[in-house]
Amino acid sequence: MTKIIAERYHDISCGHRVVGHEHKCKYLHGHNYRFTFTIEGEALDSLGRVIDFGVMKSTLCEWLENHYDHKFLMWADDPYLDTMMQLSEESMVVVPFNPTAENIAKHFLEEVAPQLLEGTGARLIKCRVDETRKCSATAML
Ligand SMILES: [Zn+2]
Repeated sequence: MTKIIAERYHDISCGHRVVGHEHKCKYLHGHNYRFTFTIEGEALDSLGRVIDFGVMKSTLCEWLENHYDHKFLMWADDPYLDTMMQLSEESMVVVPFNPTAENIAKHFLEEVAPQLLEGTGARLIKCRVDETRKCSATAML
C-alpha cells in the first residue's frame, strides 16, 4: 500500500547551551533552528490531503513562534538557571531536558505535537531539528 506523508518546515531563532558539553556548546549561544515536521494521517481527506498545510502552520509552526522563537532554552537542572532568570526571566524557556537538538526533537514529537494535533486525525511521526545547515537530529515514531 502506498504511504503518503506531508511535510512542512519552520525556522526560528533561539538560544541555548548544552550543560556538560565538552566543547563550545557549553557556552551561551543560539542557532537559526529549522524544524521539519513529517505528518501521517489515517487516510487522505475528501480533497486528497494528509492534512491542510495551513493547519500545520497554525498548530506546529505557531507553537514554535509563540514558545521558542527569540527565547532561550534552559534546562531546569542547569546551574546557570537562577542567574539567567534574574537577568531576563521573560526570555527564558525552562525545559525538563538538556536542550540538545536530539532532546528538543524528542520533546516536540512526544509531548508537544500530540496535544497540538489532537482531533485532526493526523499525527507527527518525525521531527527534524537542524541547528546548522550541516547538523541536525531527528526524532521519529
Ligand atoms: Zn548550540
